[in-house]
Amino acid sequence: MITFLAGGTGTPKLLAGATQQLGADRITVVGNTGDDIELGGLVVCPDLDTVLFHEGDVLDTERWWGIDGDSHETNAELHRLAEQAGLETGPQYLPVEQQTEGRPIARWRRFSGIAEFMTIGDRDRAVHITRTSLLDQGHTLTEATQVLANGFGLELSLLPMSDNPVSTIINTDSGPIHFQEYWLGEKSHEIRGVEFRGSQSAAPTTSVRDALDAPVVIGPSNPVTSIGPMLAVPGIREALEATPVVAVSPFVETTVFSGPAAELMAATGREPSTQGVAEAYHFVDAFVLDSADETALERPVVRTDTRIENTADSNRVMNAVIQALEELGIHV
Ligand code: GDP
Repeated sequence: MITFLAGGTGTPKLLAGATQQLGADRITVVGNTGDDIELGGLVVCPDLDTVLFHEGDVLDTERWWGIDGDSHETNAELHRLAEQAGLETGPQYLPVEQQTEGRPIARWRRFSGIAEFMTIGDRDRAVHITRTSLLDQGHTLTEATQVLANGFGLELSLLPMSDNPVSTIINTDSGPIHFQEYWLGEKSHEIRGVEFRGSQSAAPTTSVRDALDAPVVIGPSNPVTSIGPMLAVPGIREALEATPVVAVSPFVETTVFSGPAAELMAATGREPSTQGVAEAYHFVDAFVLDSADETALERPVVRTDTRIENTADSNRVMNAVIQALEELGIHV
């Protein structure tokens, strides 16, 4: 068995090659839930959903979120209604006292559904309604994710990093905001730091603990907001220290492929580069770097073209991961 740690873009891209070369039944994916929010009463888990849709063959691979060809009638009507009625638009947090009432999974990330600031597709919404209803029936997020995985015919095993809520909060010059407001909101912010609210009272599930006994692959991921929330959950970092880990750099030296990794690393006191990733990941035993990345690391390195745009690319990068595992004595 091999366990992959996933955010919402890089690792899902690597899974095409991984499933072809290892077989889906030998793969467990642990997904970041720090990005999750509750929006208009619905629990949305963006990183878990990307893996769900990718493996279910319905992902919109232009945007790397949502369902390909989905309609957005409900979202459009929510905007029309808000504008027509003179309601506020943009991210609107529910009042402080309502952030911790009720559903324990949704703490510190509750937004009003008015003028729904995330573009939730109509089919996509069915996933959030099902997930939220399962949670309301008393199921854990792990169980709800398994049900949804069955609904999309997943062959690999998909686990949330924890059943307890962890919210990635970005502290900015204008106060704390949730990661989703920082990423999708219209305003730009100066970042002062990143907090994983709830992480200290969260725990990895038994399934995650078991999965972390296997060799681990960290696909290209945002070290701050995709892997950071996992490392903040007590027990996960220790489990990674005790098992062989290979990571694919999300940088080519100092250049990112996509997303806010560089900005967030700089804001949290890390060098925004492969070197900075290696410093943040002291528990990683071997790295896969891009052929154009000459960063010298004191750990085994396998180089290849790490850009992943199609299945052939994914297979090439996965080959490099397998070679790196072999350098650590793991033969898959
Ligand atoms: P994010 O929320 O978009 O940052 O999601 P992830 O945690 O999945 O992070 C993706 C990271 O992987 C980003 O820092 C990108 O620079 C990087 N990335 C995206 N596509 C590729 C790719 O094709 N190859 C490599 N090596 N990195 C990639």
